[in-house]
Amino acid sequence: MRILVTGGAGFLGSHLIDRLMTAGHEVICLDNFYTGNKRNILQWLDNPNFELIRHDITEPIRLEVDQIYHLACPASPVHYQYNPVKTVKTNVMGTLNMLGLAKRVKARFFLASTSEVYGDPDVHPQSEEYRGNVNPIGLRACYDEGKRIAETLAFDYYRQNKVDIRVVRIFNTYGPRMLENDGRVVSNFIVQALQGKPLTVYGDGSQTRSFCYASDLIEGFIRLMNSDYVGPVNIGNPGEYTILQLAEAVRDMINPNAEIIHEPLPSDDPRRRRPDITKAKTLLDWEPTVPLAEGLKLTVEDFRKRMGDAAI
Ligand code: NAD
Ligand code: UDP
Repeated sequence: MRILVTGGAGFLGSHLIDRLMTAGHEVICLDNFYTGNKRNILQWLDNPNFELIRHDITEPIRLEVDQIYHLACPASPVHYQYNPVKTVKTNVMGTLNMLGLAKRVKARFFLASTSEVYGDPDVHPQSEEYRGNVNPIGLRACYDEGKRIAETLAFDYYRQNKVDIRVVRIFNTYGPRMLENDGRVVSNFIVQALQGKPLTVYGDGSQTRSFCYASDLIEGFIRLMNSDYVGPVNIGNPGEYTILQLAEAVRDMINPNAEIIHEPLPSDDPRRRRPDITKAKTLLDWEPTVPLAEGLKLTVEDFRKRMGDAAI
C-alpha cells in the first residue's frame, strides 16, 4: 500500500515508519520539522519506497494514498504551548485538510488522539466512555481541545462523508528518539541524570502517569488500523507510577547520587492517569509487553549514544 504518515519525522511517527517500511509498504512522510528531525528517518532517505515532503498540514496538499496515519502535532506541553494558536491551527485546519484528502482519495484515516481528551479525570482509570474534564481556557486547552475537535471532525467526516476512520487515544509514551529538549518527563529526567543535574519534579510528585514503551504503542496502531473497529480505543500501559517514583527509578538506574528537586506544578496538570485497556485487549488482542524498567533501560542506552561525552 501507499501510506502517508503526517508528523513522520517525529518521535512516534518515525517508529511507525520503520514498521511500515519493514513491512514493504510505500511510505510518504510529511512533516514541517517543528519537533521532528531528519535524523529520525535518515535510514530511509535513499530507499525508493520512501518519500519525504516538507509541508505544513495547515496548508492543503494533493497526494494519492491508500492509508493516512495522522500524527502531526507537537506532543510535549513545552512545544505545544510555545505557539498555542499554531497548535489549534494544526489540530483544526491540519486535521480538516487531512480528512479532506482522505475523503477525496478514499483512504483509510487514522487519528492519533490522546488521553488528554480526558483532561484532569474524575473517573479512574479512564475508559473510552468517560467524556473528560478539560479546562477550555487553560494553558493545556490548545492541545486538549484541539484533539477533542480533531476527534469530532473525524467522526463527522465518518458519518457525513463515509470516510473510513480509526481513532486511537494514546497515553504517555516514551522510548528511543525522544528529543533531548523534548520537555516531557521521561526525557527530562534521563537527560538531567545523564548530565549530573538535579531531576526536576514538578509539585510534590504525587501526580501519576502510566508509561507505554514506543514499540508496544506502534503494535497497537497497526492492529487498530487493520481492524474493523473505528474506535476510539485507549492504547497505553496500565502500570501507574507517581512522578516521584519515576524520578527515583531513573535516578537509581543512571546516577544514584543525583539530587531530586521540586519545582512549581504547572496549571491544570492532571492529578492521575491510567488507561482502561479492556477494549484494546478484547477487540485488538493487544496489550503492552515491555515493563517500565526494561523500556527505561533501552531509552537510556539511546540517550547515552546520542549525548556522547556529555553523558556520565
Ligand atoms: P513529536 O512532537 O515528536 O512529533 C510530532 C511531529 O509532527 C513532529 O515531527 C513535528 O515536526 C510534526 N508537526 C507538528 N506540527 C506540524 C504541522 N503543522 N505540519 C506538519 N508537521 C507538523 O510528538 P510524538 O510524541 O511523536 O506524537 C505524535 C502524535 O501522537 C501527536 O499527534 C501527539 O499528539 C500524539 N500523542 C503522543 C503521545 C506521546 O506520549 N508520545 C501521547 C498522546 C498523543
Ligand atoms: N513533570 C515533572 N518534571 C519534568 C517534566 C514533567 O515533574 O521535568 C511532570 C508534569 O508536571 C506531569 C508529568 O510529569 O505531572 C508528566 O508530564 P509530561 O509533560 O511528560 O506529560 P503530560 O503532563 O502531558 O502527561
